[in-house]
Amino acid sequence: MITEVLTANQLKKEAPVFGQLSFNDHEQVVFCQDKDTGLKAIIGVHNTILGPALGGTRMYDYKTEWDALNDVLRLSRGMTYKAAITGLNLGGGKAVIIGDPKKMKTPELMTRFGKFVHTLGGKYYTAEDVGMETSDMDTVREVTPYVTGISESKGGAGNPSPVTAYGVYMGMKAATKFAYGNDALQGKKILVQGIGHVGEELVRLAAEEGANVIISDINEERLSEVSTKYGVEIYRGNDLYAEEADIYAPCALGATVNDDTIDKLKVKVIAGAANNQLANEQIHGPLLQKKGIVYAPDFLINAGGIINVYAEIEGYGRDQIITKTENIYDTTLDILNKAKATNITANASAMSIAEDRIATRKKELLG
Ligand code: NAD
Repeated sequence: MITEVLTANQLKKEAPVFGQLSFNDHEQVVFCQDKDTGLKAIIGVHNTILGPALGGTRMYDYKTEWDALNDVLRLSRGMTYKAAITGLNLGGGKAVIIGDPKKMKTPELMTRFGKFVHTLGGKYYTAEDVGMETSDMDTVREVTPYVTGISESKGGAGNPSPVTAYGVYMGMKAATKFAYGNDALQGKKILVQGIGHVGEELVRLAAEEGANVIISDINEERLSEVSTKYGVEIYRGNDLYAEEADIYAPCALGATVNDDTIDKLKVKVIAGAANNQLANEQIHGPLLQKKGIVYAPDFLINAGGIINVYAEIEGYGRDQIITKTENIYDTTLDILNKAKATNITANASAMSIAEDRIATRKKELLG
């Protein structure tokens, strides 16, 4: 029990409940537990004004349950902004499952999780995120229709990651154009941190364009595999953030732009797939702007995946998915230009556009 370990003062300061920065007007947060399968999950429904909350399930070996709660709150909020800025009729939600997927993930656990998703009656649709595979979504599909990103053989849109990577690539090119005057990645030194489902595809696209791609990951096997496959260099230094380069592409986990890293960064552009790259958007967004680093808002450029799974709900095809994903280029450039003209951060500019869309819809709903 939290009250046994925290004093009243600490509770006020540290307990991540209503009023905390990460607890931002969330509509509903659901704690799910099943002792038989070892499932401990949290589903965060941030906002459903534009439509049902959609967002992936992340399975991760969180240090504490508080970290898991903080993550699901931040991620679900990010999904609201992502859907809104991308023009989709979806709200924001996300789920986290606590535990190492390599050790704890079983079909029984995923089935139990799917049943919890089902109890929300379509208010929340799940999908794949870190620690999940398309086959896990297929398992969830057996007990609920409120899941996307299932296998193409089962009528789904399949793994969203290649589309996410394509959108990130579009956003990266737009940010490069803004920073350098043209969008060519050829010859640019790009640090890709995390070469998982999205990172690897981004490496492929950038390397094919002639970029000098340097990869970093905690998984040695992946490093040698991806390095050999695309002929890219592995980062062997001891501080990636301090490396001289043109572009930093965070494609692992969030909050890597923080108090410790921001002074070291020497890149001109940050554009990557990870959600919530700024540890604190109100502090680190302006600091990046002050340093002259062009930041392509994560929730804007990593929307390819949600476009892909949204197609599954709306029933539209490949061409529309690609066109919508390519729009990320123009939207990113527009937002960077607008932010410069109004002297606010690109992140703040993108957020206010998203908030306006939600506010307009809310007015319509209220009549
Ligand atoms: P993934 O699990 O397939 O890959 C993540 C990779 O990062 C792994 O190879 C892992 O070993 C590596 N990694 C973990 N910690 C690291 C560290 N400290 N330093 C370097 N590497 C590290 O995940 P993914 O699906 O490729 O997603 C990557 C990021 O993009 C996540 O933050 C995810 O939330 C975000 N994202 C993914 C999608 C999608 O469609 N998959 C969509 C939007 C956003």
